[in-house]
Amino acid sequence: MTSSDAAEALQELHSQIRRCRRCPLSRTRTKAVPGEGVPDASVMFVGEAPGGDEDQQGRPFVGPAGRLLTHLLKTIGLDRREVFITNIIKCRPPGNRDPAPEEIAACNEYLLTQIALITPKVLCPLGRFAGQTLIDRNLSISREHGKPRTISGILYLPLYHPAAALHQARLIDSLEADMRQLGRVLAQELGTSPPEASQQNA
Ligand code: URA
Repeated sequence: MTSSDAAEALQELHSQIRRCRRCPLSRTRTKAVPGEGVPDASVMFVGEAPGGDEDQQGRPFVGPAGRLLTHLLKTIGLDRREVFITNIIKCRPPGNRDPAPEEIAACNEYLLTQIALITPKVLCPLGRFAGQTLIDRNLSISREHGKPRTISGILYLPLYHPAAALHQARLIDSLEADMRQLGRVLAQELGTSPPEASQQNA
């Protein structure tokens, strides 16, 4: 598949997600949130579920957690427009409750198709739900964050969810260190130099 075929297929998939009625969240959402970014992104981030701001705007990570993610990306010289950001479920659970297993299952095909079309060099699940959905259903994010591993040819680097760092200040240092780890892992995958300079200037 050429990169323009993949970009077109991704656009078609996102239109399908905006019309999706596969689970009851379609009745309570304002807008579905397929995800956004470049179709040939080297890094893909997968969060948990849209929150209130995302539900209103139809875009992922645009609230406080999103602002932290955008800032952390800058510390390793990445702009959010050059990565791809999505969630394991594409519609907001009422009251921002945890996603239910049936909701995760209903959305799983969308997520797997996005990953197959984007083929990122590094895939970062953000938080426990994304880590358990993508890597291992028993994954402990507090044990595994920042540790790269390859499964079926995909390089995963699980990170704490930025919203967790907003609520527990002690996690911010880990998240910053794991972002630097992402910078190194990505440079290795791309054969470029690690973004040390932008870290120091951040
Ligand atoms: N939290 C998430 O997991 N995803 C978003 O899009 C926003 C907040």
